[in-house]
Amino acid sequence: MNETSAFSVNPRVFYGENVQNSIPNIVTGNKPSSQPVPFKLRKLLGPSSIWEVFKKQADVLTFVNSRKCGLMSFVFQQNTGERLFLAAHPSWLWYHDSNKKLDSRSSYEIIQELTVCKLYFDIEFNKDVNPFHNGVEMLEIFIKIVCFYLYKLWGIQCSRRNILDMDSSTNKKFSRHLIFQLPNAVFRDNYNAGNFVKYICKNVQTFVDNMSGDNCPQTCELDNFIAENNIQIHQMKNLIVTNSNGKTGIFCDQGVYTKNRHFRLFKSSKIGKQTPLVLSEQNEYKPECSEEEIFLDSLITFITNDSDKLRVLEFQSDSVDFNRKLTKGENIQQRVNNVKASPFPQIDRFIECAAKPGHIWRSFYFQAPNLIVYDIIGNRFCGNVGRQHKSNNIKLIVDLSNACYYQKCYDPDCAGYKSVPVSLPYEVQFHIHDDLDCELSLLEQTECNSSKVDDYNSLFDDHDNELSDILDTIEDIPVESFSDNF
Ligand SMILES: [Zn+2]
Repeated sequence: MNETSAFSVNPRVFYGENVQNSIPNIVTGNKPSSQPVPFKLRKLLGPSSIWEVFKKQADVLTFVNSRKCGLMSFVFQQNTGERLFLAAHPSWLWYHDSNKKLDSRSSYEIIQELTVCKLYFDIEFNKDVNPFHNGVEMLEIFIKIVCFYLYKLWGIQCSRRNILDMDSSTNKKFSRHLIFQLPNAVFRDNYNAGNFVKYICKNVQTFVDNMSGDNCPQTCELDNFIAENNIQIHQMKNLIVTNSNGKTGIFCDQGVYTKNRHFRLFKSSKIGKQTPLVLSEQNEYKPECSEEEIFLDSLITFITNDSDKLRVLEFQSDSVDFNRKLTKGENIQQRVNNVKASPFPQIDRFIECAAKPGHIWRSFYFQAPNLIVYDIIGNRFCGNVGRQHKSNNIKLIVDLSNACYYQKCYDPDCAGYKSVPVSLPYEVQFHIHDDLDCELSLLEQTECNSSKVDDYNSLFDDHDNELSDILDTIEDIPVESFSDNF
C-alpha cells in the first residue's frame, strides 16, 4: 500500500468499548466469508466493509477514488478536537455510528468536488439578535420559494414530502439542514447546487430591497409568487436576519458550497455541543422509515438509484463557479478544464483518447452507483446503428466497479441500447484497486469480458435497469451550446 499516512483503526478502539459485542467479524479484519452474498443483500449491506482512517483529507480522497467498491469519505472529530478522515461505505459507518452514544457522535460527510449531489441547505440565525423572527414560519416561506424556482427553471414539482428536514436548534440558535430528495433530479456537483441557491437568495434580497423603498420598485419574478401563495411582504422581509456582527442577510448560509465541504451527519453534534441533528418536528419526508434509511438519504452525494427518471441539473452553463477564489496553484485554464473533469484524471485522459475524433464535453460522477458518464461531442458514432448520428450525441460510461466502459446514445431510437462493455486497459485499471472485500462471487461473475456479454446483462438484474434509467435520462446537450467551442 502506498498511502503512507493510512492507518487502520479497529472500530473498537475508535469508538470505545461500548460497541464491543456488536461488531461482526467482517469489520474486525478477519477474512470475509467466502459464501456468496445474494446481490440484494449485498446491496443492503453495502458493497464493502473497508474501514480505513487517515490523518490527511487528501489521502482519504485519493484512497476512495482509487477503489472499485463505491466507498465514501467522512470526517470524524475526536474529543481532542482532532479531525480524522475515514473511507467506508455509509451503511458500515451508520452501523458503527449508531452504536455510539448520541452525545459522542461527531461525524461529517465530505462533499467531494465534481461529484453529483443532492440540493442541500444550511439554514441558521442567532435567536438572541433576532428575537422577533419566527424560524419555523420563515422556513416554510423559504421552502416555497425554492420549490417555486425548481418548477420555474426545470419544471420539477417538489413539496415538503421531498425535503428531509433536520433540526439542530438550541435556545440561542435556529439551525436546520434541508436535504432535497427531488423525485427525478440531482445536481451536477455542489458548485452548481450552490449557484442555484445563491441565485434564489439574491432574488429574495433584491425583492426585499425593492420593497424597502430606497430604490424604485422594479418588477420582480417573486411578485407573482407572493401573490399566488398569499404571502405578505413583511413575511418576505423577515427572511433577512442580523448576524452577531450586526450584518444583515438572508438566513440561508451560502458558504457551504465550497470544494470538499464537510457537512454534519444525521445524529451528529459539533464536538462538545451535544445538539445532534435530528428530524425536525416539521419534517414530512418518509415519516415512517428507519433511522438508517434517513441517514442514507441525508447523505448529499449518496444517490440511490431507485428513481425511474433522474436528471442532472446544471446552473450556469459552464458549471464552474468562476466567482470562487482560485485555490492555491490553480489557474483559470485549469478551472475551464475542470468542466470536463471527473475526480479520476487517468480515466478522463483515456476517455478523451477513446472518444477521438471527438472530445469529452462534460462528465458526471455518480459516487454511489460508481459510474462516470462522459458526454461526447464531435464523434456521434453509435454502435447501435453502426454509423454517425446526424444530430444526437453519444455518451461513454465508465463502470468503476467492473473497470470497464461502454457506449450509450441520446438518440430516442437508441433508448435502452448499451454496447458490449470493454475492459479499461491495464494502465488505467492500475489506478483503481481491487480489495479483498470485493472478492464476492458477484464481482467475479460480472468481470468485464466482451465474450460474456449475456452473463453481464443478466447478472445486473434489476440493478441494471435502474442504471439504464439513470443513464437514459441525463439530458442531451443542445447542439447550439457547443458549436462555437469546437
Ligand atoms: Zn444511437
